[in-house]
Amino acid sequence: MSRIVYVNGNYVPEAEATVSVFDRGFVMADAIYEVTAVIDGKMLEFDGHMARMQRSLDELNIAYKVDYDDMLAIHREMITRNNLVTGGIYIQISRGNPGDRDFIFPEGDAISPTIVLFTQEKPDPRLDESKLTGWHIMTMEDLRWHRRDIKTVQLLWPSIAKTAAIRAGFDDTWMIENGTITEGTSNNAYIIKDNVIITRQLSHDILHGITRASLLRYAHDRQMKIEERPFTVDEVKSADEAFITSASTYVKPVVSIDGVNIGSGKVGKHALQLRQIYIEESLKAAI
Ligand code: PMP
Repeated sequence: MSRIVYVNGNYVPEAEATVSVFDRGFVMADAIYEVTAVIDGKMLEFDGHMARMQRSLDELNIAYKVDYDDMLAIHREMITRNNLVTGGIYIQISRGNPGDRDFIFPEGDAISPTIVLFTQEKPDPRLDESKLTGWHIMTMEDLRWHRRDIKTVQLLWPSIAKTAAIRAGFDDTWMIENGTITEGTSNNAYIIKDNVIITRQLSHDILHGITRASLLRYAHDRQMKIEERPFTVDEVKSADEAFITSASTYVKPVVSIDGVNIGSGKVGKHALQLRQIYIEESLKAAI
């Protein structure tokens, strides 16, 4: 089935959608994006995604003010037009087309951003709880730029690292910098040791996950102990459990790293419980 995508104010069949070859998103990766999860036709964490999108735009001086009501209406229209029940909505905003390829970009309003949205269907995450499996992770050096807190479309290294993992029979790669894990290719990374949830603190080193923020709040509300600090591969190997979070995976257990089992090597009870809590709580607040 052909999707209806959104390009600069128009809803068009995906085969008819066009963006200029001079668009800076295309030639310079000068664009930011967000992915909002959809369950039962409702969006999870929409406010968080829109707030982070504005922050990414501001950090790059892309002159675009996110109008919350407009964005909500566009996202909802995309759900309706694509009959989306479960999956995600991708939005990308690039600096736009300055008329030619040039390293120097025009100031603010002299160029208008290109806004594109499309939907992606995914299975219902609630159906697989009993057969939920964990991911097998490998590690690679983190060769990304140093503003990973800005959600840009410069995804070449994460894409290489994810592909390397899949080709080698793993599910994902956790990236390492100066001896500690930064994050997964498209997710935040956690271990659990002696009932303490350990995850890297926020900085320019990692994306400030929207799922991460909510999950830590839900865990804190339930009196779970949290330590925000970097951790090493050796700590992962001797952890009781591990997991990741993202809008696309919610909370997903991790059961091995570089071929070494984590804990029992099976889905951990805390990870499973945190997944259930996250899905339940975020669904309650879904719009
Ligand atoms: N880190 C990276 C590098 C990511 O690409 C993502 C997903 N976009 C995340 C973390 C998780 O962020 P969120 O929970 O907001 O999806």
